[in-house]
Amino acid sequence: MRFRQIIFAGCFGRRNPPTLIMDTNKIRNFSIIAHIDHGKSTLADRMLEITKTVEARQMQNQYLDMMDLERERGITIKMQPVRMEYTPNSPRESAYILNLIDTPGHVDFSYEVSRSLAAVEGVVLLVDGTKGIQAQTLAHLYQAQKQKLVIIPAINKIDLPNSRPEEIELELRKILGEGEILKISAKEGTNVVQLLEAIIEKVPSPQAKGGPSLKDRPSGISRALIFDSTYDDYKGVLAFVRVFDGSFKTGNKIKFIAQKKDAEIMEVGYFKPQLISQKDLNQGEIGYIATGLKDPTLVRVGDTILSLNDAEHTRTHAENKNLSASSQHYSAYVLPGYSEPRPVVFASIFPKEGADFNVLREALNKLKLSDAALSFEPDSQEVLGRGYRCGFLGSLHMEIVLERLKREYNLASLIATTPSVVYELILKNGESETIFSAADVPTSDRYTEIREPWVALNILTPTRYLGGVLELVSWRRGVHTDTEYLSTERVQIKYEIPLAEIIVDFHDKLKGVSSGFASLSYEFLELRKGDLARLDILVAGELVTALSRLVPRDQAFEEGQRLVSKLKDLLPRELFKVSLQAAIGGKIVAREDISALKKDVTGYLYGGDITRKMKLREKQKRGKKRMKASGRVNIPSSVFFELLKR
Ligand code: GDP
Ligand code: MG
Repeated sequence: MRFRQIIFAGCFGRRNPPTLIMDTNKIRNFSIIAHIDHGKSTLADRMLEITKTVEARQMQNQYLDMMDLERERGITIKMQPVRMEYTPNSPRESAYILNLIDTPGHVDFSYEVSRSLAAVEGVVLLVDGTKGIQAQTLAHLYQAQKQKLVIIPAINKIDLPNSRPEEIELELRKILGEGEILKISAKEGTNVVQLLEAIIEKVPSPQAKGGPSLKDRPSGISRALIFDSTYDDYKGVLAFVRVFDGSFKTGNKIKFIAQKKDAEIMEVGYFKPQLISQKDLNQGEIGYIATGLKDPTLVRVGDTILSLNDAEHTRTHAENKNLSASSQHYSAYVLPGYSEPRPVVFASIFPKEGADFNVLREALNKLKLSDAALSFEPDSQEVLGRGYRCGFLGSLHMEIVLERLKREYNLASLIATTPSVVYELILKNGESETIFSAADVPTSDRYTEIREPWVALNILTPTRYLGGVLELVSWRRGVHTDTEYLSTERVQIKYEIPLAEIIVDFHDKLKGVSSGFASLSYEFLELRKGDLARLDILVAGELVTALSRLVPRDQAFEEGQRLVSKLKDLLPRELFKVSLQAAIGGKIVAREDISALKKDVTGYLYGGDITRKMKLREKQKRGKKRMKASGRVNIPSSVFFELLKR
């Protein structure tokens, strides 16, 4: 991560020239929200330039995408806060502080967006002038409206010849009503200054939120909401916060209310976007608090950091004498946090070497600091040993987590089981049991019902691709519920569909049938009874539980055949013949064989020493036999992902 490098290069903790303490009226906190690729990070680039936050020679495209992984893939994964200073063009105006949080647009990272929104008073809603409103445009807009944020709509990419700003303006008006809609080019900077001025004019200055009302609140209370965090080897856990009351300084004693943990502040500062330390962090500001805590599990996103001055401390204690040491009485100060995200995909991760288990635990705990949507708990499986069952917000989220574990924590050889949704079994005795993997489903005489998660799916597509989209969904057990035309060109279709049908390759397929124009969002509905069968895969006669899955019973047979023939293409050949079998309820329904790899072990011996050659061949045979007996076929982890695609 470039971010980390900057920290270690010594910029971290650098003291800036003393900054003037800002009048809260001069602060604006806002996020940029949009569907993926509509230009959020590019717009942030222009704002960084206009406000001279980043020096021209250091500027590069999508500057706020700090992770190498983000730059390689061209997508934002993490929200990124940055503080800018801007003096409006009108005379006699002094500088404003603008705290911007850039957000990801992909549905798998929507938890990053929802957390950003709790730290700001307004949003720029960006819409690509060539693509128009897409599914995440609406999903994020509804979230911002729910939080009662000021919404500043802008149509982007007007420099492109195929952009249709007027048409899109009409679509936006249908949803937002009257009001100014700026037309900008984030790439060329057109009207970006006007947008900054609109933010200053329309977004309110920071306000207090939740807890005791401002009027009744004694002045000795300081409170901040943790919206993100990261780990630093020297300063421990860094909490990224929005200060709602009072101020925080180095040396202050602080309390994490939900975690019931005390700490002392090592340092406070703001984002430029690298960390710049400053004397204090005041009401309305967005910045970081270095806690010195080395245990990453002590700090949780969504928690409130509280600091009381001596008088206030004495007062609360006097009031709550009989509550003694418990943090119970601090709960009155809790700021409204976030609801925990609901993981949709589960997979277990195992280190190849058992000894790496502790490394994996440490890595997951640290990763969770900067990926609050990740959840995990210990798991152990006979063949794979000890590992963690992880919950993800989607398969892209899972892919990114595995990649980050590899890159940032040197865990290159992890084994991940097939991603699966979570099922519920209703047992014969009436009890219910949660099932995270098909391998845990018992024989059918032990349960009466399997329930699977259903979601409300929302697809936005240009009308000309409607046919293809409808066909795609009809293949996947979807039930159509609603169709709504946003304009003659754009239609929104709603479905109820089993989550398992859309978590893996549905998104890619949807892009495929619509030349990239259709988009989706979804929301959990409930668990519903499904007619599902457990499909097992045997490799070289051995059940590979990591490949087991639940499939609709009427598709089980074809699915079994499809899987073994695909496995045949995907698995590398071994020195011995490997059989691949699919089984439903213990009955083999399909079989393929991978022929043995012939390796001439005598190749380097030339001439006529036939006895020597025979000896070597004998040795090879014995080796093969041993391998065959141990039955260990190496299954590369990429195979698990490939197998899921249809
Ligand atoms: P994000 O996913 O919303 O952060 O989008 P990015 O800022 O990463 O931009 C996605 C793509 O659109 C990039 O290739 C940008 O160069 C391009 N882009 C962004 N804004 C504009 C614009 O105003 N005009 C043009 N022509 N391209 C733009
Ligand atoms: Mg971006």
